Amino acid sequence: YEAAMQADVQERLALEQDLKKAATDGQLAVYIQPQVDAQGALVGGELLMRWNHPERGNVPPSRFIPLAEASGLILRMGDWMISQACEALAQLQAQGRALSISVNVSERQFRQEDFVERIRNVLAATGAKPELLILEVTESLLIENLDDTIARMTELVQLGVRFSIDDFGTGYSSLAYLKRLPLYELKIDKSFVQDAPADPNDAAIVQSILAVAGHLKLRVVAEGVETQAQADFLIQNQCKCLQGYLFGRPQPLGLWLGLQAKAAQGGA
Ligand code: C2E
Ligand code: CA
Ligand code: CA
Repeated sequence: YEAAMQADVQERLALEQDLKKAATDGQLAVYIQPQVDAQGALVGGELLMRWNHPERGNVPPSRFIPLAEASGLILRMGDWMISQACEALAQLQAQGRALSISVNVSERQFRQEDFVERIRNVLAATGAKPELLILEVTESLLIENLDDTIARMTELVQLGVRFSIDDFGTGYSSLAYLKRLPLYELKIDKSFVQDAPADPNDAAIVQSILAVAGHLKLRVVAEGVETQAQADFLIQNQCKCLQGYLFGRPQPLGLWLGLQAKAAQGGA
């Protein structure tokens, strides 16, 4: 057992060393997954990080993001994702397309002393419209230092940036904080979406989230939509925005931007 633990620690250290190199060697890539409205029209996308390791191949984010967070590498990687989002927004704007772009922001990144300043700078440098930049944060971030969190979010919202709660319903959700935070959106976790409508408990959770969000005037995005039955159920319950393999897999951001440019010229 001890030997197994030792091996695990060594494996983690090796991967962390590799990740440090990956960040400077161009092994990290930005993907985007489309988000559509109830009619199936494209409204935006979520950026997702990919790591193509020279020997191991694709390392899943569930494996390298926690390492990046523990080592602090997430700060540089997260900055890079936000710049990519803003540059993409600027390109879309130039094509006259008002699509939003969502980025995952980890707790450590959000708590950086100069996080607000960094966002302000990248918005200014790229000319991206702040209203189209959606920062996805998790519930755990909200629970700790709630007052600090509210203050910081408020500063960012004053810049025009929008906030979304990712994986909503999986953490220590308290409905009380929902009205205290300057939120724009909730994302229903795919674990609930995937068993709805077949599983009555998950169906009830999805309906409750949609009802609460409706009263609080929050947009809801359902993630992990894979089947038409799931999409129909969500739309019947007033879900206005959907994301999942049914509408599109994550694809390289550059490729996607190229497709959007073609569509804007009437080519698609
Ligand atoms: P998440 O933010 O909840 O992202 C949604 C995950 O669901 C993505 O996995 C996406 O590829 C996957 N997904 C989308 N549609 C479907 C579907 O229809 N069916 C199924 N089975 N899965 C679907 P991915 O890309 O592996 O990312 C996993 C997690 O890694 C993300 O979960 C997010 O927490 C984290 N992550 C990814 N990129 C970043 C990043 O740039 N920064 C930070 N801080 N975290 C990131
Ligand atoms: Ca997310
Ligand atoms: Ca999720």
